[in-house]
Amino acid sequence: MVLGYLLWGGIAQASGVEGHRLRIVTSILPIYCFTINITGDLAEVENLLPPGVEPHDFQFTPREMRIVGAAQILVVNGLGLESWLSRVLDAPENRKTVVIASAGLEADLLPLAGTGSLTSTVPLARSSGFSRSARDSATENPASAWNPHFWLDPTLASRAVTNILAALQKADPTHAEAYAHNAQRYLGELAALDAELQAGLAPLKDQAIITFHDAFPYFARHYGLRVVGIVEKVPDVEPSPRHVAALAALIRREPVRVVFGERQSPSRLVDMLGRDYHVAIAQLDTLETGALTGDAYTRGMRDNLRTLEKALR
Ligand SMILES: [Zn+2]
Repeated sequence: MVLGYLLWGGIAQASGVEGHRLRIVTSILPIYCFTINITGDLAEVENLLPPGVEPHDFQFTPREMRIVGAAQILVVNGLGLESWLSRVLDAPENRKTVVIASAGLEADLLPLAGTGSLTSTVPLARSSGFSRSARDSATENPASAWNPHFWLDPTLASRAVTNILAALQKADPTHAEAYAHNAQRYLGELAALDAELQAGLAPLKDQAIITFHDAFPYFARHYGLRVVGIVEKVPDVEPSPRHVAALAALIRREPVRVVFGERQSPSRLVDMLGRDYHVAIAQLDTLETGALTGDAYTRGMRDNLRTLEKALR
């Protein structure tokens, strides 16, 4: 049996105590959405990264230290996205229950592409997962370099919701039934979202797109789009002139009709590609960050659907 969580510390005080709500800290926006749709008001859910702050290369500040310190449970994406957390969690005072939302998805994960590719080259070191997670080989492959952006496929997001539900029911059995009820409702919303995306994107099947960073391979696989190039292969590292020339050649060869930038990180390079190579520009949302509301994930996915329909039709 694959467990969706690792138990690192005592959480007995969390459950069944009148007036004490479970204190949960999530790492990034989609994980926050999945978690709060399960708990509703029955637990305190706080997101570690403030709105507008992206998870790649995140730097811990005293603010996040305090948040982690007060948490009973941490719910994370896993797959190396929160590698900056492992050092913090190594401190004895920060031994927490950590729920890895992506646990059990191994068979459906996509690797980060190799260095010669026009798609991703995120270094291995930042993709190796939590150092501690090697304890449980069922949840992480320490030698792996998986693309962490699984949440952009709603069917994989649903499995993360199920993982988080199981862990929260165990940590807070008093509310197990209510959590299950809430999760069921949210899973229904995710299924409806997926059906809407399937219907909307079916006419766009096999279209070639370039995205800003390597966030959309799960989305593209699920909905039949082809991500043929990535502008910024390593997050937050300016691409080389050689890479830009290769993208330009790709735009002509495929041909690529739209280069997708990101709503959260405007790029001069994306604008330049559009201008110099006469290709349309549109903005997709990776949902890595944004306003912390329960509907941010489903709403953001629908915004992406509308953006794609408008840009590629
Ligand atoms: Zn990313």
